[in-house]
Amino acid sequence: MSNKIAPIPTPHNEPILGYLPNSNERIALKAELKRRKETVYDIPMFINGKEIRTNDIVDVFPPHELAHKIAHYHKGNTEHIHQAIDAALSAREQWANLHWEDRAAIFLKAADLIAGPYRAAINAATMLGQSKNAYQAEIDAACELADFLRFNVHFASEIYKEQPVSAPNIRNTIEYRALEGFIYAITPFNFTAIAGNLSVSPALMGNVVVWKPSNTQVYSAWTIMEIFREAGLPAGVINMIFCDAIQTTNIILEHPEFAGVHFTGSTTVFNSIWETIGKNLHLYKSYPRLVGETGGKDYILAHNSADVDVLATALLRGAFEYQGQKCSACSRAYIPKSIWDATWEKMYQALKTFKVGNIEDFSVIMGAVINETAYKRITKYIDHAKADPNNIIMYGGGHDKKKGYFVEPTVILTKDPKSVTMVEEIFGPVLTIYVYDDAEMSLDEILHLVDTTSEYALTGAIIAQDTYAIQQMRDKLTNSAGNFYINDKCTGAVVGQQPFGGARKSGTNDKAGSKWNLLRWVSPRTIKENYVPAKSYLYPYMSEE
Ligand code: NAD
Repeated sequence: MSNKIAPIPTPHNEPILGYLPNSNERIALKAELKRRKETVYDIPMFINGKEIRTNDIVDVFPPHELAHKIAHYHKGNTEHIHQAIDAALSAREQWANLHWEDRAAIFLKAADLIAGPYRAAINAATMLGQSKNAYQAEIDAACELADFLRFNVHFASEIYKEQPVSAPNIRNTIEYRALEGFIYAITPFNFTAIAGNLSVSPALMGNVVVWKPSNTQVYSAWTIMEIFREAGLPAGVINMIFCDAIQTTNIILEHPEFAGVHFTGSTTVFNSIWETIGKNLHLYKSYPRLVGETGGKDYILAHNSADVDVLATALLRGAFEYQGQKCSACSRAYIPKSIWDATWEKMYQALKTFKVGNIEDFSVIMGAVINETAYKRITKYIDHAKADPNNIIMYGGGHDKKKGYFVEPTVILTKDPKSVTMVEEIFGPVLTIYVYDDAEMSLDEILHLVDTTSEYALTGAIIAQDTYAIQQMRDKLTNSAGNFYINDKCTGAVVGQQPFGGARKSGTNDKAGSKWNLLRWVSPRTIKENYVPAKSYLYPYMSEE
């Protein structure tokens, strides 16, 4: 019985806990880290509400402590991909027809479980599995995931309220149907919150999902799945599989009931998915929805009116937090010559205090990069930069993988604003700086350079105090970033406050955790009901004079 009109709770951002010495949250988190280190998790796939084990085992190690096994997961094969699709399709009708408030209640409960009893678990899983420090885990796994869940429910209620006008004797309504078929959620390693949100947002709107997490995020993905299960998610609504990425994608993209892809990851992979969908279009019942948030080459541009302390802080936090493995991380910067010495002095003094190491030590700011492939890619960029005579390595450049995949925070000063590390996404703790001569170069010239250097347009920040300069920079850089910051770093978007996503080669810009994203997962049906229907084909104008 759903005879009620109940208000949806107004969402608030989950408060970020401080983890100060002796605080309850710090004690709980340390205890959970210890407990997990003493356990080897046995992680199954989750299909049709059941744990699936294959005994085709893949071991899981913290990226910062490769000698310590924390889990193994069960790898699936083509059979499991088909099982996951079938389970989703069998669950579809009942789930899509469930009253939306009952669907929403499951995700609101999941948010409260994350913010409450599972907080230490999801943060510890993210710290150990993805090498985030306590603060980076808290803002991602606990707070952002809870925010996604709560804000999505609020935005869904806004969408459902959006109705057309009616006229005398006529009632017009719109039903926001789930898409016909199933959604394929493909998630990246770097944010536990994104991994959860990409399957949850279509599911909230009544869709069923096959979810393929990144191999390097399985450890915290399993904690997400445990939370969804405890929150009451019915069997088959979200099916999590650990199968080969290419094999999974090939099978899913040939299925006639494939209704959409919700992807976050690299531009190359999204391009290949889009191309395959184009080729397979004749196979599908409906035109699939393609939502992909992809790479970035995010910038900070300083004006000579910038506050040097603000600038140095934005660069350090923007470039090196979570080892630069944020799609929004600052990896190219443009600094006027007139303030460069003062800026570098601040940066250098701070960098000397940066601790890189095992994130279980709370004084460490940077852990390890995610895996061997990332380590090789990042260090190759560093070695290439070292060999280029246009570059000076101002800081770092070292790396070591004896205990874990550690890369020092690295600052490259370049004379060539189009050098490789100014242009390509590196996805590691590497910042390249171009110092421009503000006595010689006009602001328009530098703005043109920033706008045209990379194919991406995800995030960008300007640091300035001159109001006219701020206006000019903001306007000329309109298309250079989907998330633009003034006097702040270019990372750290908060759900509900700065809807996130970029354009150009950074994605479809559907703004994760917003109404615009949820709209992609519904197919509206307009219903006109005539209360006083016509009973003759004759119109009044046809009568005799
Ligand atoms: P990735 O592209 O390597 O992997 C993403 C997902 O795609 C994983 O689940 C992976 O297994 C899967 N995958 C890999 N190859 C595939 C293929 N051929 N077919 C189908 N699926 C495939 O990315 P990553 O290393 O996990 O994440 C880093 C990338 O994600 C960076 O480029 C970063 O900028 C981007 N990112 C973007 C945003 C955003 O909001 N724009 C957010 C986070 C990360």
